[in-house]
Amino acid sequence: MNWPGVIEAYRPYLPFDADAPVVTLNEGNTPLIHAPRLAEQIAPRGGLQLYLKYEGLNPTGSFKDRGMTAAISRAVQEGAETVICASTGNTAASAAAYAARAGLRCLVLVPQGKIALGKLAASLAYGAEVISIDGSFDDGLRMVREITERRADSRRPIALVNSVNPWRLEGQKTGAFEIVDQLGGQAPDWHCLPVGNAGNISAYWLGYKQYAKGLPRLLGGQAAGAAPIVLGRVVEKPETLATAIRIGNPARWRQAVEALDESGGIITAVSDEDILEAWRLLARVEGVFVEPASATGLAALRQQIALGEIDPAGRTAVVVLTGHGLKDPGTAVEQAAAPITLKAEIEALERYLRG
Ligand SMILES: *Cc1c(COP(=O)(O)O)cnc(C)c1O
Repeated sequence: MNWPGVIEAYRPYLPFDADAPVVTLNEGNTPLIHAPRLAEQIAPRGGLQLYLKYEGLNPTGSFKDRGMTAAISRAVQEGAETVICASTGNTAASAAAYAARAGLRCLVLVPQGKIALGKLAASLAYGAEVISIDGSFDDGLRMVREITERRADSRRPIALVNSVNPWRLEGQKTGAFEIVDQLGGQAPDWHCLPVGNAGNISAYWLGYKQYAKGLPRLLGGQAAGAAPIVLGRVVEKPETLATAIRIGNPARWRQAVEALDESGGIITAVSDEDILEAWRLLARVEGVFVEPASATGLAALRQQIALGEIDPAGRTAVVVLTGHGLKDPGTAVEQAAAPITLKAEIEALERYLRG
């Protein structure tokens, strides 16, 4: 069967009427990859069942597509002609693709110099109007919220497609539905993921509560230089190499804290070094290439097991890998050793192999 995308696949669980227009790129249905070698590395005394939800395999390379199919479908139903968002990159790429598919004008505000190359390339390719601002994601979000409010009663309203838009969370809930289906109807014991604007952690919690037998505990990871929820205060100048979560004032802050509390969860900060180590492990131990921010859930799980806060024995953990590694080729190349160069001669290869 051709997978129809998340709205068709889960329509009885989503607030879309039978005749509502659907804008889809057949997103969702991403693999849940069993990761026993990685489990052994982060929990050496064993007993951890570790699964990776590889969201980088969505049509534009991140989980944002689950939310965007819902937000853009809704915008079309409401007659919008223009959509706008602020973005650290992946929301921009996703909005741009779905807007193209729906024939809408799309404006994206991104922080100058802080957006990974693959995200910029994709947003431009899909034909979005990319506006680079000399400020942070948080500044951009303030601007797009205000401009959509100012236009709300005009003849040409602009639809805001950031995760402050409730339809985004409706779509993103389907990540939880899929995990439960893939685990045979059960929620995992731990659900681990990066937290930036905190839309995704909020959406997953809604999804588990609606769909699962039993509930997971949530483990959220923030980058140490951009950890407002962990610190309990706004971070004015967030900094991290994990640009997708370089956010100092999350829009879904309160909802995320409620979800964490309800689940008996943990929110923790991990250093950029720990994020990179988790990123390396994913690629080298399991062959799964993600962008750095996407490794933050694993970094958090590894940290909490090492600290003894999470007992892995007999537990199932799902780690959401939010975006594809090719989103940020620059960091990947910088972090690796340079390629080996040889003369194009067989003897050169022989000498290299002999060491
Ligand atoms: C958007 C994004 C996040 C953060 O998700 P929030 O819903 O903003 O918390 C994490 N990783 C990647 C790759 C993202 O694109």
